[in-house]
Amino acid sequence: MSKDWPGWPTEDAERYQQAGWWAGETFSAALHRWAARRPDHVAVVDHRRRLTYADLVSESEAVAAGLAAHGVGPGDRVILQLPNVAEFLTLWFALQHLGAVPVHAMPAHRTAELEHLADLADARAYVTTDVHQGFDHRELADHLVAARAQAGRALLVVVVGEVGDRAATGYDQLRTADGADRASGVRTETSSRDLALLLLSGGTTGLPKLIPRTHDDYLYNARLSAERCGMTPDTVFLAALPVAFNFSWCCPGALGTLSAGGTVVLARDPSPDTVFDLIVAERVTSLTLNPPLAGLFVEEIGFGGRDTSSVEVVNVGSARLPDDVAVTVGPAFGATLQQVYGMAEGLICYTHLDDPEGLVTTTQGVPMSPGDEVRVVDGEGRDVAAGEPGELLTRGPYTLRGYWRADEHNAVAFTPDGYYRTGDLVRRLETGHLIVVGRVKDQINRGGEKIAPAEVEGHLVTHPQVDVAAVFGVPDPLYGERVAAAVRPVPGQGEPDPATLVAHLRERGLAAYKVPERFAVVDDMPLTAVAKIDKAALRERVTRQ
Ligand code: AMP
Repeated sequence: MSKDWPGWPTEDAERYQQAGWWAGETFSAALHRWAARRPDHVAVVDHRRRLTYADLVSESEAVAAGLAAHGVGPGDRVILQLPNVAEFLTLWFALQHLGAVPVHAMPAHRTAELEHLADLADARAYVTTDVHQGFDHRELADHLVAARAQAGRALLVVVVGEVGDRAATGYDQLRTADGADRASGVRTETSSRDLALLLLSGGTTGLPKLIPRTHDDYLYNARLSAERCGMTPDTVFLAALPVAFNFSWCCPGALGTLSAGGTVVLARDPSPDTVFDLIVAERVTSLTLNPPLAGLFVEEIGFGGRDTSSVEVVNVGSARLPDDVAVTVGPAFGATLQQVYGMAEGLICYTHLDDPEGLVTTTQGVPMSPGDEVRVVDGEGRDVAAGEPGELLTRGPYTLRGYWRADEHNAVAFTPDGYYRTGDLVRRLETGHLIVVGRVKDQINRGGEKIAPAEVEGHLVTHPQVDVAAVFGVPDPLYGERVAAAVRPVPGQGEPDPATLVAHLRERGLAAYKVPERFAVVDDMPLTAVAKIDKAALRERVTRQ
C-alpha cells in the first residue's frame, strides 16, 4: 500500500472485489470498452464541439502521447483547472491512459488555493484555460510556476486556448505532437487498485485536504450511480455546474453517463438561458443541480415559455434542499426529482426513483451500495435510536480510509476501525432514508460550495489591522448560508473597513466564493464554556445587525 495514503485493509479489498463491486478495471480500459459498444454515438458535447466515443478515445490517446513527450508519466499529479469544455474529458482520460493522476481544481480557485494544491500534490503539471469569465488563468500559471520554482520544482503548463507569448504548451500542440507515437501514450501496467484521481475536500480544520480515489472505487461510484439514477444509452446528461465537482463528474455525472453509454452535454455557464436552450437543443434527459439553481430554474419555468419535456430525472444535492422547494421541482420540470446527498470522500445516497413523494421531497436518500456501512452516533460515539439525530459515520467500497499525506488529520477524521466521520448530523428513518439536519463540523455550505472557516481566518489575520478573526455561516434564503466574519482589531491600529478586508483577501488570491459577505467588528470575541470562540453567538449577532 502506498505510503501517501492509507488504503482499504486487504480483507475488505478482497471482499469488495469478490462481491463484484470492484471490477478490476482501470479508467483507460473502461473508456476503450465503452467506446467499443457504440463508437459513433456522441459522447460529449460542448459549445464548440461534438465528440463521438471513438473521437474521445483517439483524441485522448493523442493527447496522452503529447503529454508523455513532455515528460508526464505514471503517478505524476497534474492539476486540471478547466471550465466545462470537452478538453476536460480528453485530458482527463489522457492522464488515465498514462497512469498519471488528475487533481481536480475548481474554476473559481485562485492563487491561494492553487499554490496549496500544487504543493500538497507535488504537481508535475498544471492544465488550465486562457481567459475564463474575465480572469486570465495564464497569469495564475505564471505565479504558480514561480512559486514551484522557489520550491525547486518545475511545473509544465498546458493551456487550452491561446497560449500567447508564454512558455506554456498549447493543447493543440499536444494533440498533434510531432512524431509522438500514439501507442507510447497508453500504458497497460496501471492496476485498478492504483490512485486514479485526487479530489479536493471541502475542508474544516486548516487547509483543504486531498481525497485519493482509485480506479476500482471511483468506477464503482460512477457505475452504481448511473444504475441508481436510471441511466441508459439514451441518457443525455447536462452538466450545468462545473464538471470538476465530484457531483457533476461522477454522481452520476459525466462518468456515470459514459459508463451507461449516454451523452454528456457541458453547459458553459449555469444561466437559465444557456441551460434551457441546451435542454431543448440536445433533448436533455437528466441534470444535476444544487439547491439555489433548482429554486432559480423552478421560478424560471414558472414564467412560462421553457420546454423541459425531454427531462426525466433532476438530481439535486450538495447542500440541503429545503422541503418547500423540493415539492416544486418535479412538477415544474415534469420529471422525477431525485435527491442526492454525499461527499467527495465517498458515500453517496440517492432517493429511489420509485420512492413515494413524501420520501423524495423530505429525505436525502439511502446509501447507494449494499457495501456502505453507516452508523449514526452521539457525541460519545454511541449509536442513537432510529430517527434520532446524530453524526453520520461511514465506511465502504468507495469511501476513503484516509486523506493523501495527512497522517495527523487522518487520526482524528476516522474512527480506529476505519469509519469516516462525515461531520454531518442526520436522522435515519426505518426505511434507511437519511435526513440531513445539521452539521458538527466547522464548515460553511454556501449553496453547495464548501468553505473551511479556518482557511479564511488564516488569511484575515494577515491584515495589519486584524488581531483575531472568526468566520462562520449566516442563514440565507437563496444559498442556505453565506459567509460572514467577525474581526477584533489590533489595538491602536483603528477599525478595519470591510471593503479593505475584502480587497485584502482578493489580493491574497482567495476564491471569490470564500470571501465573507458580511462583517462585524467586535471589541471582544464571545467565548464558549470551553474557551473557544462562540460562533453561534456571533452568528446571532450578525444576523440581527
Ligand atoms: P462535497 O465533498 O463538496 O460534496 O461536500 C460534502 C458535504 O456537503 C457533505 O458532507 C454535506 O455536509 C454536504 N451535502 C452534500 N449533499 C447534501 C445534501 N443533499 N443535503 C445536505 N448537505 C449535503
